[in-house]
Amino acid sequence: MELQERLNDVRARISAAERQSQRPAGSVQLVAVSKTFDAEVIRPAIAAGQRIFGENRVQESQGKWPELKTETPGIELHLIGPLQSNKAADAVALFDVIETVDREKIARAIAGEMKRQGKTVRLYVQVNSGLEPQKAGIAPADTPAFVYFCRNELGLSIEGLMCIPPAEENPGPHFALLAKIARQCRVEKLSMGMSGDYETAVAFGATSVRVGSAIFGAR
Ligand SMILES: *Cc1c(COP(=O)(O)O)cnc(C)c1O
Repeated sequence: MELQERLNDVRARISAAERQSQRPAGSVQLVAVSKTFDAEVIRPAIAAGQRIFGENRVQESQGKWPELKTETPGIELHLIGPLQSNKAADAVALFDVIETVDREKIARAIAGEMKRQGKTVRLYVQVNSGLEPQKAGIAPADTPAFVYFCRNELGLSIEGLMCIPPAEENPGPHFALLAKIARQCRVEKLSMGMSGDYETAVAFGATSVRVGSAIFGAR
């Protein structure tokens, strides 16, 4: 299959999943995860109308996205990988959404950079739904307090939560947990679901799914 066919297939499956869970058509956004792929591979996805992309490394993104964004206005770029404080300035400059706010230090750095650069970046808090030691994210029990801190101490507007469930577990309970925490925190957006489980995530209320290999192929 060509990239365009794979992209159409993913879009069709998202639409079907929306219908099946009686959610409005178009209520789930597709974030096409283009990490490890070069600009030449990404351009056909842009040509096919895809505008929202996800990357997990700031430095890698700097090598391809400034040019791609100049070529096509209206691209929305999401950072979905861990952010180090020394990359906060670059991340704020390049990305439209940072989905991986996961500790006080990085929240402070992002707040400072947004002020310095006069740029607003939309923010999600990453939740470590499976309490995995090797994975980034705020523990579920600590998330409401962290969201409160970001909003009230730093003046950040947190619009969503993001999670990556443990690879070997049934993702449904993790998606349900993220949705529950979002209600507690009065956060509207839910970034959850990847190539293997995005239809399940739609059923649990995802407002965006992050799909890489099902569109671009194996990495
Ligand atoms: C790589 C990545 C994805 C996409 O994974 P696929 O299984 O290729 O769809 C989604 N979310 C995050 C955080 C990732 O790092």
